[in-house]
Amino acid sequence: MKTIIEPFRIRSVEPIRMTTPTERARLLEEASYNPFLLRSDDVLLDLLTDSGTSAMSAAQWAGIQRGDESYAGSPSFYRFEAAVQEIFGFEQVIPTHQGRAAERILFSTLCGPGDIVPSNTHFDTTRANVEATGARALDLPSPQGLDPAVPHPFKGDMDADRLAEVLEEHAPDRIPLVMLTVTNNTGGGQPVSMANVRRVSELCAQHGVPFYIDACRFAENAYFIKLREEGYAERSIPEIVRELFSLADGCTMSAKKDGLANIGGFLASNDESLARKEKNLLILTEGFPTYGGLAGRDLEAIAVGLREVLEEDYLEYRLASVRYLGERIAAGGVPIMQPPGGHAVYIDAARLLPHVPPLELPGQTVVAELYLEGGIRAVEVGTVMFGTRDSETGEESPAAMELVRLALPRRVYTQSHVDYMVEAILNFHARRESVGGFRIVEQEPVLRHFTARFEPLYELAVSGTSGG
Ligand SMILES: *Cc1c(COP(=O)(O)O)cnc(C)c1O
Repeated sequence: MKTIIEPFRIRSVEPIRMTTPTERARLLEEASYNPFLLRSDDVLLDLLTDSGTSAMSAAQWAGIQRGDESYAGSPSFYRFEAAVQEIFGFEQVIPTHQGRAAERILFSTLCGPGDIVPSNTHFDTTRANVEATGARALDLPSPQGLDPAVPHPFKGDMDADRLAEVLEEHAPDRIPLVMLTVTNNTGGGQPVSMANVRRVSELCAQHGVPFYIDACRFAENAYFIKLREEGYAERSIPEIVRELFSLADGCTMSAKKDGLANIGGFLASNDESLARKEKNLLILTEGFPTYGGLAGRDLEAIAVGLREVLEEDYLEYRLASVRYLGERIAAGGVPIMQPPGGHAVYIDAARLLPHVPPLELPGQTVVAELYLEGGIRAVEVGTVMFGTRDSETGEESPAAMELVRLALPRRVYTQSHVDYMVEAILNFHARRESVGGFRIVEQEPVLRHFTARFEPLYELAVSGTSGG
């Protein structure tokens, strides 16, 4: 069969509250054109993030029922620990309430002022937690990862030649560890090849530097390796995962991604004395080492989710739905980051709206118009999020790229939902020349994209106040 189907039946549903364009125009105006300020009840299809938004399976809900909430030594912890040990091959398993808590504990144990932590690309919380220790977070993306229009099978790779130079100059004294993010979140989950993981691992071993993987989307990455890397087509996903993590000294994980859970994370390694120090920090802010800030029921949901995410039928469906969305809108003329990654499609708003200059925030226009057109919530990843502002003159500088991210929650939407997304995006594309830009009327000094208020610099097709 050529048709790839959702490998699940639905037996518990949540209604979507339908809205009209006129209603959406009013709601968007009330939210000051910032989708983060919308109520999720007013959104039809929510593509804001794939984090913590997965639908859980019947087996995960059964795990929730059996969750044991003992303060110490809960059987739920031992089931969680066994799942992580078996899948990733690390002995020391420290549960945390999210990925960033694992990061904070790892970096505050290993890093200090003057240190450098290289990565293919640090995720924003990873970078912030490295920098909070006084160390520098250094991104070394591969050259093929930098051009959005050029397809390449492994755009998430690290530039290993540059890593070799950095290690030559600063290791081991100034490099407490090297990180590698799989998949590389930047650019919508571009995968890292096993060959690149192996090369990074060898370089770290030569220089006596620990090597950690940011494992958030480890299963999606493993499936890309199976599909795209020579020698892996016949290997099972659990085997590929075990091989990948056997090359590392440890990992940090957010179970809100490939844990198929709504909350949770962990830090894992084979270093017992390091784990002892980490557990002391864990007790300070997260909790006792057999729950680490999570309820026993959350540990059960993660233990089941980590096994379900390795199923090939699920991964085939997952990557197919992201690819389908990307290919369909690209075929309709919408410029996207190529090829589509594991969890998201990125629209290139600068190329879609060349008549809107970067400082008039073309990504914000796309985000506002997709909500008006179809009740779809996406997120701007451009000048609103990454532009800089001179604190004295107030002068704005644009970001390097103007992107809009469409992140697909796991197991939540069906093929007809994706068809609806495609139709809404192509409807907007057809009238792209009639839209203009936006300006910011209110903003905070840090992470402004969450709370900024905007005003359109053009007349929206449906006006909220006129009731059009
Ligand atoms: C989400 C994410 C994190 C942080 O995890 P949280 O659970 O949100 O704290 C770290 N790295 C990557 C690549 C992520 O996607």
